[in-house]
Amino acid sequence: MSSSSSATATGPDVSHWVKDEFVLNCEACDTKFSMSVRKHHCRKCGSVFCARCAARYVALPELGFSKNSPQRVCESCYTSITSSDSGAGSTNATHNDATVEGLKRLYRAGIKPLEVQFKFGEFYSPVMTDADFDAKPMVLLIGQYSVGKTSFIRYLVGRDFPGQRIGPEPTTDRFTIVAGSDDPSSTDTVIPGNALAVQSDRPFRSLQRFGAAFLDKLECAQTSTTAEGGKASILKHITFVDTPGVLAGEKQRIGRSYDYTGVVEWFAGRCDRILLLFDAHKLDISDEFQTAIAALRGHDEKIRVVLNKADAVDAQQLMRVHGALMWSLGKIIRTPEVVRVYVGSFWDNPLQNRIFEELFRKESTDLIDDLRSLPGSAITRKVNEVVKRARAAKTHALIVDHLRNKLPLMFKEKALQKMLDSLENEYQEIHRKHGVPLGDFPRPETFRRALKTHTDNDLSKFPPLNQRMIVELNDILSSHLPRLHAQHTAEAGRKRAAEAKRSAGDENPFGAKDGATPPLSVTNKDWAVDPESLALYSGEFDALGPVRDVDGKRKIHGNEVRDLLVATGVAKSKLRQIWNLSDLDQDGSLTLEEFAIARHLIETFALKDEPLPEELPPSWMPTSDAQ
Ligand SMILES: [Zn+2]
Ligand SMILES: [Zn+2]
Repeated sequence: MSSSSSATATGPDVSHWVKDEFVLNCEACDTKFSMSVRKHHCRKCGSVFCARCAARYVALPELGFSKNSPQRVCESCYTSITSSDSGAGSTNATHNDATVEGLKRLYRAGIKPLEVQFKFGEFYSPVMTDADFDAKPMVLLIGQYSVGKTSFIRYLVGRDFPGQRIGPEPTTDRFTIVAGSDDPSSTDTVIPGNALAVQSDRPFRSLQRFGAAFLDKLECAQTSTTAEGGKASILKHITFVDTPGVLAGEKQRIGRSYDYTGVVEWFAGRCDRILLLFDAHKLDISDEFQTAIAALRGHDEKIRVVLNKADAVDAQQLMRVHGALMWSLGKIIRTPEVVRVYVGSFWDNPLQNRIFEELFRKESTDLIDDLRSLPGSAITRKVNEVVKRARAAKTHALIVDHLRNKLPLMFKEKALQKMLDSLENEYQEIHRKHGVPLGDFPRPETFRRALKTHTDNDLSKFPPLNQRMIVELNDILSSHLPRLHAQHTAEAGRKRAAEAKRSAGDENPFGAKDGATPPLSVTNKDWAVDPESLALYSGEFDALGPVRDVDGKRKIHGNEVRDLLVATGVAKSKLRQIWNLSDLDQDGSLTLEEFAIARHLIETFALKDEPLPEELPPSWMPTSDAQ
C-alpha cells in the first residue's frame, strides 16, 4: 500500500473515496439513495453504502485515523480486517504490491461507478472485484490429447496434485485449474466448477455465463504451497489452467456441449502466458487445434510453444518435426518475431534418447525462467486491462447518452430502432463529436443484443450522464494510470538490479530467492557424514560399478543408481528432489561425493520424515575435487 499520503499530519487519507455524486445506489444492497436513505463512505475501501450495509466500526490507524476512534466500514472490509487479525490466511496471497493497490483504488473511485450506472457489467464483462486484481498470473495450456499436459504440469509443480489424471482417457475432457493455497492449514482438495464459480475470493465468477454444461467440466485442483515437495512453490506465484486435450481426426466431429471457443477466449484474455503443447512423436495440428489457436487471436504475444516428448524421436526426425511445426505456426500465429519453441521431454521419466540431454536441460531452465518472470509482467497486463475497460466504459456511456439525446418526444421506440439498425453511423457521429477512437466501440450486434436483453430497449433505465464522471475518467486515463505504471516500471527495475546482485549459482528458481521461504535452519543437524556412514556409501558406490568419464572422474549414471535409491522406500517425488540436490553439476551422473550426499539426505531426512532442505547447506558441499 502506498504510504505517500496516508498517516500524515494532514489527517485521514480520503483520496480514494468514491465521490458522493457518482453513486446512486448502495454498493451492497443496491437500495436507491434518497432523503431517508443516506450515503455513508466505508472508511477503508472508500465505497458508498447505506447505513445498514456499513454498520461496523473498527480502528484504522494505518489510514490516518485516531487509534481511539473506531471508524465506519462495510461488511466486506470488516470481514477482511478481522479475519487477517485472527491469522486465518486467505486463498489468494495478500498483495501488498503498491501498483495493485493503486489500481484497485483508481478503479473503485473513478471507473466502477460509471460501469455500475451504465450496466457495463451486464453488457460486456462483470465489474472487477479485488479477487480479479489479486489473482496470481495464470498460464493456459492447450495441446493434443497425447501430448502429456498433465505430466507437464506435474513436472513443473514437482509433485502430484489432487485429481490429476494422466493419459488419453475421456475424463481429461475438462478444464482443470491447478492452484496453490498459501494458507498453511489448507489440504489438497478438488473444488467442482459450480462451487468455484460462486466464490467471491476467486477470479472465476464471470465463468458462470458459460452455463451448467461447462461448469460440469470445470474443476480446481488446489494444493498447499507450504507442504514439502520440490518445486511446488511454483504455485505460490502462478496458477495453471489445463484445458481438455484437443481432439484429433475422427473424434473432433463429436462436438462439445458448451461454447469451447468462448471459454478459451475468456481464459486467453485473463492469462499471462499461453503454452501450446505439441507432441514431437505424433505432430498433428487438427482442425480443432486450429480453432483453439484462432480463439487466441489478439493475444499472440502471450503465446509460447512447447515441443514435448522430443526424446521419443531421433535427431533427424526431430529436425523435421521442428521445421514442420515452425512452418505451420508461422501461418497461424501473427507476431513480428518468430514464436519461441521450447524443445524437450517435460516429465519425470528418464529420457528415451539422450543425444539432446544438455539441450533439453537448458530449454527447461529457459522455460522456468520465463514463467518466473510472469508475476512482474502480470502487473503491466492488469494496468492495460484497466485502461481498456476504462475506455470501453466511457465509450459505452457516451453511446447510451448519445442515443437518448437524439430521441424525439414521440414515437421513441421507432426512432431508437432506426438508430440501432444503423448503429455504425451513430458510432461515426460519436467518434467525430467526442474524439472516441473507432476501435473502442463495441461490436454493433453485441450492443444491440445486450440493450434488448438488459433494458428491453428502454433507455430511461439509465441515469442521466454526469459529465464530471467523464472528466474524472479522462483524468485517470491521461494522468493517474500512466503515472502508476511508470512507478511500477521504476520499482521493478530497482528490484531486478538488487536481485541480480544477490543471486549467484544455480538455485531452485522458485526457492528462497525472494526471501519468502528461508532455507531450513540447519543448526540442530549433524552435517558431517560420519566415517561409518561414508564407508557404507562408498562400498555401495563401488558395487554399482562406477566408470571413469573423460576427466578421469569415477561416476555412476542415473539409470544405474536408480534401483538402489528406489529400494530405500522413499517416495519417488522425494527422490527426485534428492537427486536434484545431490547431482551438483546436473550431468545426470553421480560422483562418490554426490552419491554420498544423496544417501545422506535419504538417511537423515527422508527416512526420518523430515522435510528436505531447499538447498544444500554450505557445509555439505564437497571441498575437494578428489577422484
Ligand atoms: Zn445497503
Ligand atoms: Zn469497505
